[in-house]
Amino acid sequence: MLPNKQDHSTVNIRAAHVRRLEFHGSRTAAPSRRTLAEVLLSLPLRLQTSLEIDRILGFFLEEAQHLLPLSGLTYHHSETDFHLQLGQPVESNDVSYSLFHQGESIGELSLLSNEAIPEWALDQAEQLISCTLFPLRNALLYRRAIQASLKDPLTGAGNRIALEQGLVRETELSRRHDQSLSVVMLDMDHFKALNDTYGHQAGDAALKAVALLLKEQLRNVDMVFRFGGEEFVLVLSNTGAEAALVVAERIRAAVQTLCLLVGEKQVRLSASLGCATFMPTESHEQLLRRADVALYQAKRDGRNLTRIASA
Ligand code: GH3
Ligand code: MG
Ligand code: MG
Repeated sequence: MLPNKQDHSTVNIRAAHVRRLEFHGSRTAAPSRRTLAEVLLSLPLRLQTSLEIDRILGFFLEEAQHLLPLSGLTYHHSETDFHLQLGQPVESNDVSYSLFHQGESIGELSLLSNEAIPEWALDQAEQLISCTLFPLRNALLYRRAIQASLKDPLTGAGNRIALEQGLVRETELSRRHDQSLSVVMLDMDHFKALNDTYGHQAGDAALKAVALLLKEQLRNVDMVFRFGGEEFVLVLSNTGAEAALVVAERIRAAVQTLCLLVGEKQVRLSASLGCATFMPTESHEQLLRRADVALYQAKRDGRNLTRIASA
């Protein structure tokens, strides 16, 4: 059974399936351009055509608007940190649903309307939500798979593929909007010695701690990638050379304060960093290469240092 319609209802996918089979069009006709039966035929056909959450919910909204006075919807999935708003936001007259599939939350959906949604219309909306649950769940699985394919499994930072995509996007944005952009390349000092002395597991723990520190030190808009073994790249949008140096130095100081506990032993860490600020005439590969050259200079100058790339 579908639950009673309240401000915060639950749509259970199995119940929804039963409900759909029970429908024989005996309800009061909705004042709309299409009947519920027509929409229940057209919506699944459209839902089949995409694995993108925003497309799936866009189809749902468009089809639902044939039946209901909806101005838009909002959708939130906390686990994958996905927020979506379609159409016009309204202050009142929204109805929210917690969506579940086999006990697993697949998000919170709110239907927005400029006028009070009548009971019969909510009933129809819930039938459309039921049709949308499986495609929405598949879209969430797809999103999760895509996110995982772009992450380094050890540290949770973006991987090389994500770095490539991020740099291409950010350098294009920087060129188009004439905004500053900097990258910082960080390499742990004497990391081989740390592995050799304390073991690979201690090295892994150090990499995780550094990745966490980087995320904590940066703004939400900044991006952290694991470039290779014990190397990370930070992409700092809207950040010029001076600000990038401040960020890099702050990070270098913070890495020094990290204290890795291996048994009774406290192990200190340090890192060397190279900063480069984007020049519109260069490619993203050239930008990265300049940061790498600056990092190499920091190593040569003695490590636990930050160096800035020359143009
Ligand atoms: P430098 O100060 O010049 O950077 O010296 P280094 O020892 O850090 O550099 P080197 O390139 O000689 O060694 C890098 C080490 O990083 C070697 C490798 O064992 C270690 N490493 C790379 N990836 C991982 C990893 O995923 N886990 C662990 N534990 N160690 C790793
Ligand atoms: Mg190193
Ligand atoms: Mg290295």
